[in-house]
Amino acid sequence: MKAILVHEFGGPEVLRLEEIPTPKPAAGQVLVRVHAVGVNPYDTYMRNGTYAVKPPLPYTPGSDGAGTVEAVGTGISKVKPGDRVYMAKTVTGAYAEYAIALESQVHRLPEKASFSQGAGVWVPYGTAYHALYHSAQAHASETVLIHGASGGVGLAGVQISRALGLTVLGTASSQKGLDLATREGAHLVFDHSKPGYLDEIMKASGGRGVDIVLEMLANVNLANDLKLLATNGRVIVIGNRGEITINPRELMGRRASIRAFTLWALTAAEEADVHAGLIAGLENGTFRPVVGKELPLAEAARAHKEILEPGAAGKIVLIP
Ligand code: NAP
Repeated sequence: MKAILVHEFGGPEVLRLEEIPTPKPAAGQVLVRVHAVGVNPYDTYMRNGTYAVKPPLPYTPGSDGAGTVEAVGTGISKVKPGDRVYMAKTVTGAYAEYAIALESQVHRLPEKASFSQGAGVWVPYGTAYHALYHSAQAHASETVLIHGASGGVGLAGVQISRALGLTVLGTASSQKGLDLATREGAHLVFDHSKPGYLDEIMKASGGRGVDIVLEMLANVNLANDLKLLATNGRVIVIGNRGEITINPRELMGRRASIRAFTLWALTAAEEADVHAGLIAGLENGTFRPVVGKELPLAEAARAHKEILEPGAAGKIVLIP
């Protein structure tokens, strides 16, 4: 089979398409024929060798993908050959024509979702769902600011927030991203590349501030996020690429808090809760992953460059 292999940590050029033997599922494992692969920003940090999780070399990247079950090892009862599934983490890596996953890592992909949409479920929707339900404990009467609403996690956050009944403010830096966030349910959108947009957000909240911020770039925005919070407000740090100075006094008067997590550290019970919610949302059509671009697997390096550029517009998906 064809698969992307990383033999040394480095720039996008270390992603090489190679021919390797198709793996066979052992007991408790599932072999998935991958129809679409989800590209996530963390894939690029891991490839650079700067991420907290450093896989042994060589490795095939990717935790997100969707396809059909090709074969199962002994002891598998959850799925059978031919079933449509999305993967949430894998054993052998999703950037390939076939991938091995544990039984607990494959989940039914409802018919309403295409394979490309299924490749955009786990990291984006899992993160947004955990952020809103478990971390922020959001309520319908609240207002959420999705600071970075045009990308994978942000658009998932917009749809989930709307499904929950919240008032949704979103930001992006391109007209395409702003339009997408509006189309997917944001009540109001703001351009985070324009001076004065934070004042506009505060004005739009009637001077009260927002209850929840889902933050995609904390090292740039966290200090300002605190000033936008209403009483009992919560900033949920999702993305961060560096350091920032904040004034804790901004939290004190507001009885506010900053919460943060990584998806890797969810408990088994939280993961089960997340997947139950995601499958229900995909099935009833409230969660509709937005596929911005499909590229052949061989263009993984291009995908890794483009995902870090401004002007996000949904998911970048690789097609093996
Ligand atoms: P993505 O699809 O590449 O989208 C990035 C988003 O960040 C876009 O909406 C982009 O908007 C926005 N952005 C860029 N500059 C910004 C700024 N100055 N202020 C606010 N937003 C800004 O990435 P993603 O998959 O949505 O992930 C977003 C971030 O969360 C990444 O850093 C990722 O590593 C992280 N993440 C963390 C976890 C976790 O477990 N904690 C899980 C998933 C993702 P424009 O392009 O329109 O400017």
